[in-house]
Amino acid sequence: MAEKNTDQPDDGTQPRFDPARLRARYRAERAKRIRADGNRQYQKLEGEFSDLDFDPYVEPGFSREPVADAVDAVIVGGGYGGLLVGAELRRAGLERIRIIERGGDIGGTWYWNRYPGAACDVESYIYLPLIEEVGGAPSHKYATAPEIWEHTKKIARRFDLYRDALFQTAVTEAVWDEKSETYTVRTDRDDVIRARYLITATGSLSKPKLPGIPGIASYRGHMIHSSRWDYEYTGGDQTGGLSGLADKRVAVIGTGATAVQLIPHLAEGAEHLFVFQRTPSSIHVRADRPTDPEWFEGLPKGWQKERVENFTKAFEGIPVEVDLVNDSWTQSFFDAADAAAHRDVAPHQLANYLKMEETRSRVDQVVKDPRVAEALKPWYDFFCKRPCFHDGYLEVFNRDNVTLVDTDGRGVDRIDETGLWVDGEHYEVDCIVFATGFEVGTSFRSRTGFDIRGRGGMTLDDHWKDGFRSLHGLAVHNFPNYFFINSLSQAAMTANFAHTLAEESAHIGYIIGAANRDSAKTIEVTAEAEEAWVQEIIDVVTNNTVGAQNLAFQEECTPGYYNNEGKPSLVAVQNGPYGLGATAYFGVLDSWRKAGTLPGLSLTPAPVTVEAR
Ligand code: NDP
Repeated sequence: MAEKNTDQPDDGTQPRFDPARLRARYRAERAKRIRADGNRQYQKLEGEFSDLDFDPYVEPGFSREPVADAVDAVIVGGGYGGLLVGAELRRAGLERIRIIERGGDIGGTWYWNRYPGAACDVESYIYLPLIEEVGGAPSHKYATAPEIWEHTKKIARRFDLYRDALFQTAVTEAVWDEKSETYTVRTDRDDVIRARYLITATGSLSKPKLPGIPGIASYRGHMIHSSRWDYEYTGGDQTGGLSGLADKRVAVIGTGATAVQLIPHLAEGAEHLFVFQRTPSSIHVRADRPTDPEWFEGLPKGWQKERVENFTKAFEGIPVEVDLVNDSWTQSFFDAADAAAHRDVAPHQLANYLKMEETRSRVDQVVKDPRVAEALKPWYDFFCKRPCFHDGYLEVFNRDNVTLVDTDGRGVDRIDETGLWVDGEHYEVDCIVFATGFEVGTSFRSRTGFDIRGRGGMTLDDHWKDGFRSLHGLAVHNFPNYFFINSLSQAAMTANFAHTLAEESAHIGYIIGAANRDSAKTIEVTAEAEEAWVQEIIDVVTNNTVGAQNLAFQEECTPGYYNNEGKPSLVAVQNGPYGLGATAYFGVLDSWRKAGTLPGLSLTPAPVTVEAR
């Protein structure tokens, strides 16, 4: 446990804790959680679990005639990524833009995740894209899921993206045809669509997963995955009121960002709630508040871009004159007094220790039972796991109808027909809610359910069999006219994912716009440019101080999807994001565009002149 020198005067010269002991505790907690099976510990929602992977939000029995036509672009996925690319392709002058989406509407994450309490903990003014263009003031500093979903529909309407969209439709394959220089896209509704450009925006966390807990298939009670909410069973709606659970004993597995939003509503609705915890999340202050209409009206033109960039920089520790968002993501808790007391600790690490000390002391302040409070404390660096922001979660553990079942890093031991086992104790429940997240780091086919074939019939998974390869995490050699976004690989990792998607979309829009102006039919990354970017991704981590620090940071982190379940490796580095951070990555894209010559891309037929655009 962290040491507080309470017997010393807190005059700014005495250490508030012992960094060496803290580091040792972090390492011990990490060691408990490292598993030989890493990412293989999870179970797909397939076979006997395929019932859980349904769309609860559409009427069953939808059917339509198959579509057979040719369009300028097919975008697979109608979430933030698909919408932002769609908007940019409109700007680039494309006429027929067809979004193909598995769900019943636009929205992606915000279509699927309708669990009670779903909301975004990144500030709404920077997270809702294109506010200045589509209009509307977010109601609060942090937006709820329904409000965000409505905003995505506004974007689709503003850029006329509903016109050619196909919903409740899953792509089954996309194959490059050398002769027509188009992709032939087929779907599970027998559509055959030819597309000049193909863009996949299939999300980075979109395929739900279950834990592979022994015996899970034998459970006979009700099961729900958080991203496929079953209101028919629970009653209530996204604001809570889960009256269907009033006579139910409910288990929730997982305590990540989803669970933290969901658990307060389950606690209120259920007769009894058992929270099965493997690793506690760090719970930071949210401090939501309504938008001040006067302030919002007075924002100058261009405010959103400035605020978005300011947040990403402040979050990355790049000095900014004013921290515009100024919330728990950006505040560092680092001051001169702490620096004086800890000259032996690097400033960024000291800030991190202090931030997490604050978090742990918040648990003590809120949770009454000291044993429960101790179990809820996170022992790892800030941002080893996705931090959470909630002002009601910790209070839940003061309720009589809530039991925290802490598994000390192991997870649930076993599931049987009637309930769950931990440490030899059986917990009988009527329902298990799995807030156990989404596939990360699996193959393209596994996450999307289809293959893309480029030149010579090669699939993306073939191309990536020895590790991810791309130019800027957006395009690949041998796959002409194909772009992908939402990738955590070789692009930017940011707290505000909307920022990354906007930058990537603008970049793709720029390239396609340039190809159109030059009357090029195909545009493709050269083998050399792809290899150079792969090398840069590796080099900035292995040969650069900042990159190496980031890797060292990940190596010390408790396992999770941020660090390949605790196993960082050279391939994981190659498959990972740009090691110098999001702002640096956006700078790379910007300089590339400013060069004006589309370096590393080959166009056919070649443009007559390639001048600065
Ligand atoms: P996560 O993958 O973050 O969390 C899964 C949880 O399940 C973890 O607590 C994990 O424990 C636990 N778990 C897995 N296997 C077991 C097991 N065998 N026994 C017990 N527990 C187990 O999924 P989420 O759905 O919570 O979040 C996914 C992502 O979605 C977030 O990281 C975030 O990026 C995004 N999100 C964003 C929100 C926002 O406000 N912007 C809100 C919600 C989600 P362990 O930690 O030990 O692996």
